[in-house]
Amino acid sequence: MPDHTKKPAFAIAIHGGAGAIRRENMSPEKDEAYRAALDTALRIGETVLRNGGSAMDAVTGCISWLEDCPLFNAGKGAVFTHDGRNELDASIMDGSNQMAGAVGGVTTVRHPILLARAVMEKSPHVFLSGRGAEQFAGEQGLEIVDPAYFYTQDRWDALQKLLKDEKDPAPKSGMHRVPPHSPDYKFGTVGCVALDKNGNLAAGTSTGGMTNKRWNRIGDTPVIGAGTYASNDACAVSCTGHGEYFIRYAVAYDIYALMSYKGLSLQEATNEVVHNKLVEKGGEGGLIAVDKDGNIALPFNSAGMYRAWATPDKRSVAIYQE
Ligand code: ASP
Repeated sequence: MPDHTKKPAFAIAIHGGAGAIRRENMSPEKDEAYRAALDTALRIGETVLRNGGSAMDAVTGCISWLEDCPLFNAGKGAVFTHDGRNELDASIMDGSNQMAGAVGGVTTVRHPILLARAVMEKSPHVFLSGRGAEQFAGEQGLEIVDPAYFYTQDRWDALQKLLKDEKDPAPKSGMHRVPPHSPDYKFGTVGCVALDKNGNLAAGTSTGGMTNKRWNRIGDTPVIGAGTYASNDACAVSCTGHGEYFIRYAVAYDIYALMSYKGLSLQEATNEVVHNKLVEKGGEGGLIAVDKDGNIALPFNSAGMYRAWATPDKRSVAIYQE
């Protein structure tokens, strides 16, 4: 990743989830479709930043497009809960003022990231959930859809397969009913981090969570400091992976803290957390991060992570360890 001697005018990175994403399991068409989608989403954010727009607008622009893209586990294309529902989580943070907004378990809001931003900008609160969050979305004039809007056949089939595997007591992996390394355990969360021309950082993340989740489970994505964090004095971070671990180890804030208190570089801090701490604890996943100087890091400890990044003169889209 670029380590700039001269600070770039802007920097942006996006992810479309990390997990058991392997070249040998991907058809050329699918590979191509993911790359094209990442490229389009990245371009939306790049255009905002190139034209002098804010990091917050770049983040919401990219993520709301990805929420509409059925390839990803956010908005349309979200994974199904055990009960066959789509429960969506999202959060956003503005590094210029530490303002943040988050929503958990919404089922009728087309763009959870815009709702998270509305919570930040239009409510006195940071984190809303369930019915109340949906009521607030309606009051704010955000687009409300029938829950059936989020349905995709692939995600439904993935749930059916997991339910079948659960009934058939095949070898269970310790404490996890759903083995996180199973190819059926679909990731695909989306996120974006950005540095704008004014030196402001922002981060956002949106997801349907984990296939077969139960009991209104909420993961790290809407938890500020776990799935998302931004502060202009250090970095902006958006995570993807096995959320329970990202919550326990306060991953996004941990990156910030290592940089802020210990003086680590972005690369050092992200490597430490993703490749040492999380690996040691068994937390699979990855993250994207940008620092106040425009350095970008995209580490992951899983087989692959859908990702893309850009600065004014360079850009890249990648999926596997490549
Ligand atoms: N972190 C998300 C969650 O646990 C899932 C993911 O990133 O794929 O809900």
